[in-house]
Amino acid sequence: TMLPMNDHPAQSHSLIVTIDGPAGSGKSTVARELAGRLGLDSLDTGAMYRCATLIVIEERLDPADPAAVVRAVDRHRIDFDWTRTPPEITLDGRAVDGRLRQPDVNELVSRVASIPELRDLMVRAQRRIAERHPRLVTEGRDQGSVVFPDAEVRFYLDAEAGVRARRRALELQASGQQVDERAILDSIQSRDRLDRERSDSPLQVPEGAIRVDTGTLTASQVVDELESAVRGYLARAASGGPA
Ligand code: C5P
Repeated sequence: TMLPMNDHPAQSHSLIVTIDGPAGSGKSTVARELAGRLGLDSLDTGAMYRCATLIVIEERLDPADPAAVVRAVDRHRIDFDWTRTPPEITLDGRAVDGRLRQPDVNELVSRVASIPELRDLMVRAQRRIAERHPRLVTEGRDQGSVVFPDAEVRFYLDAEAGVRARRRALELQASGQQVDERAILDSIQSRDRLDRERSDSPLQVPEGAIRVDTGTLTASQVVDELESAVRGYLARAASGGPA
């Protein structure tokens, strides 16, 4: 039996592509470039958790007090300026992206992101964003598994921890910073451990996700691979075949 072809009419308008993976797997660069090639918007959900963490730091809150954290985050406005490419995150109208990449935020973010009540808030915000930006590449840890399990295409990027640390170190060096690659590796590994072992929405390979090992590939080779998978999906969907 054949399903009517317009069984999911929304699919012709909305296209959600999720990219999950551990720290330094290349998600942000790849998500941005993929969005550019396909004419989609892009969403960095890690920046949202980093922003919540900045609030915790600035208000000297105890991350072990979920109610206080959620109350504080609720009092502020975390937004994106969609007129920029990539969209720039703002906290109460203030551009904070550079601040969000500082070591104190890196160190605390996985703890803050393990608070279930905070994750609820963020998941709802991410789904609201997708309603207004239904053609979206969204990257994080739980985008394909929890937030958008019905996303049209789901990816999981991975690479060995040493490779990811080296990549981060080169990025930081390129921007003129002093780097200690060993410290970067430690920080990546401890964040991975917390992200994988937390009970609410741990980092995991989403069902049906296409896995890409980025270890031996350049960013643009990874984007090539993802782009052809999405175009393949679109071609199959257009011909009415199984997606
Ligand atoms: O991607 P990025 O390294 O900026 O993410 C920072 C942290 O935010 C991650 O280590 C993780 O703890 C948390 N995060 C999350 N869920 C997401 C995105 C990020 O828990 N969807």
